[in-house]
This record gives sequence, structure tokens and C-alpha cells, in this order.
Amino acid sequence: MSNSIGIYIHVPYCRSKCPYCDFFSMRGNDSEYKNYTAILKEKIIYWSKRIDKTVDTIYIGGGTPSLIGDKNLVDIINSIKNYFTIDKNSEITVEVNPESAKHLSFENLRSVGVNRISIGLQSANKTELKKLGRIHSHKDAVDTIYLSKNAGIENISLDIMLGISEQTSESLKNTLEFCVESGIKHISSYILKLEENTFYYKNKDRYNFPDDETTSDFYLETVDFLNKSGFNQYEISNFAVKGYESKHNLKYWNLDNYLGIGPAAHSFIDGKRFYYNRSIEDFKNDIIIDEGSGGNKEEYIMLKLRLKKGLNIGEYEKAFGKLPKDFFKKIELYTNSGFTEYKNDYLSFTPKGFLVSNNIISDLI
Ligand code: SF4
Repeated sequence: MSNSIGIYIHVPYCRSKCPYCDFFSMRGNDSEYKNYTAILKEKIIYWSKRIDKTVDTIYIGGGTPSLIGDKNLVDIINSIKNYFTIDKNSEITVEVNPESAKHLSFENLRSVGVNRISIGLQSANKTELKKLGRIHSHKDAVDTIYLSKNAGIENISLDIMLGISEQTSESLKNTLEFCVESGIKHISSYILKLEENTFYYKNKDRYNFPDDETTSDFYLETVDFLNKSGFNQYEISNFAVKGYESKHNLKYWNLDNYLGIGPAAHSFIDGKRFYYNRSIEDFKNDIIIDEGSGGNKEEYIMLKLRLKKGLNIGEYEKAFGKLPKDFFKKIELYTNSGFTEYKNDYLSFTPKGFLVSNNIISDLI
């Protein structure tokens, strides 16, 4: 069992609700941000008494963590540092929305060890940002990158979106070029999914979303463009300059330990999965939902195959026993059809394979 752990902190506040978003988030005000920070600090103490592991990644996500301001964020990070043992090379990430970044002191964040900033850019095109209901402008994103770098935080990630209403290959290229030229280190590129209960889902007829085939083309164009621009794909949706892969997010796919603190936050510790409900009240009252054991062989295959590196067959068989002959016959078929690769004992998806990876994984396991 590993003696290290990553901590995820969920900040469930946003200035307004984006029409595609299904994350647990709501509007708040300064006093609610302060109260929520106080609850988080209590829970950090609670967990520090129950977990004896060294923290090597901290990720503050949301919601919009930058909305609660650097003072509260510093308070949360200091609390983790005071109550847990922290590795001196820890990766500490804060998600920042370009609109709220101008009210944030990146110097203060840097002073408590924040060394990675993840920015919700989504698109570099004005009309697409408007369609997405985002309240920031392209200039806000440029300013946020500048402020972060100026404070000495060079490890910056941008989130972008594929499948936006009326998106075209040209507009996508414009966004990708913006990312590459801005000198950042990491890009997460997500395909827009119409989640039930979102405004988009209920009003989909009002929009002109690209069809699945066009969105698949956007994905392949993105992979190709970023790989050629020095951003190596290391996961189905993630790309990084060498050495800047997200250490925290890799824990999810490598079945390493992580503790999620906050409503809707999930944890995986020493083979056990549990989570908090989507409710601040339940979070306050320590209501934790036990999901039992995790990390079985199906989960292992599924998570490892999200990584570009893929599934190491030897390691799998050491942990779970021999794979059936049928598995290798299927791999051969998928490899011959260009969906997978099988090299040096690693089974991995090609970009085309990633697009249908759910179906292939269900067939394999
Ligand atoms: S800012 Fe992010 S978390 Fe908040 S509503 Fe928009 S997409 Fe959801």
C-alpha cells in the first residue's frame, strides 16, 4: 500500500451557472465563502487524525475556487500544511476562472506553495464564449496567464472544449493556436456532453451543436495539432509539455490514493472508495457514503487504458492472474483495425481508438 496521498478540495461556488455544467456549484457571497473555508478547515483536521500518509499533491477545484479569494485559499492550504505531512516537492494546483483572477493575488498563492494554475479557458473565440455562457473575455484569459507567470507560477494548464455550438475546424484551430502560443504547459480538452438537468440538455433545439462525426474530427484534429506542437497526449483528454503531466490527476488513473474533501468529492484510499453527497449540509454533518472496495480488475483495465501509455499486461497479470486467450484475440483484431496498439507489453489506444474506447473496453472486460 502506498504511503502517499493526493488531497482534492471542492469549492462549490460560481458567479453564475454555465448552461452545460453539471458540477455541484451554486452562488455564494463573501460570508458564505468564509464560513465554507472554516468548515473545510475542520474537515482537514478530522481527516488528518485518520490518515497517516504523506501528501504529495493538493488540487483545489470546483466550482470556481478563485471566486473565494486568495485569503481563503491560503487559509485552506496552510491548514493542510499544518495538519498533514507534506512532501517538499508537492504539486499544488488551484483552478482559476479568468473573470475572477483579476481580484486574486497570485503572489499570495505562490507564497504558500501553489505551483500550478488550471484556467478554464474553454475557447479563445468571443462568440463561442458567449454561447457557453462564460462571463470572461479572451483578454481576461491573457491577463490571467500573465499574472500567474509574473508571480512565478509557470506551470499553467488551460481547459478547452470540443463540440461547442457552431464550432468549426477554423475556430478550434484558433483556440489551439492561442493555447500553444501563450507558452503554457498543459491542455485539457473535453468533448462537450449534454448532461441531463443542464440548460443545454433542456434547450438543445435552440443550439446548433456539431454532430458526433464532426466532433470526432475535432478530437482527431486536436490530438494531431497538439502532438505536433510539443504537447504530448498522455491521457484521453490531456496533453502536456514533457515533465508537466498533472501529478494529481495521474493518481485517479493509476489507482493511487486520493482524499476528496467537500460536497460531491470522491476518495480512494487503500482500496476503499467513498464520497460526500452533493450537499453542504451533509458535508458539514460528516455524512460519508461508503462505496466499498475499488480497484478491481475491470476498473484497473478501464483506468489504465485512459492513459496513452496504456495497460501493462505483465503488471496486470501479476496483480490479477492470467488474461484469457480470447482477450489477446480481440486485441489482435482491434490492433489490425487501427484502434489499439500492442507494443513492449503495453496495450494502448490510438487517437481513433480513444473515440470508441468505452465500447472496446466493454468488449475486452
Ligand atoms: S464556472 Fe465551471 S463549475 Fe462553475 S458553472 Fe461554469 S462550468 Fe460549472
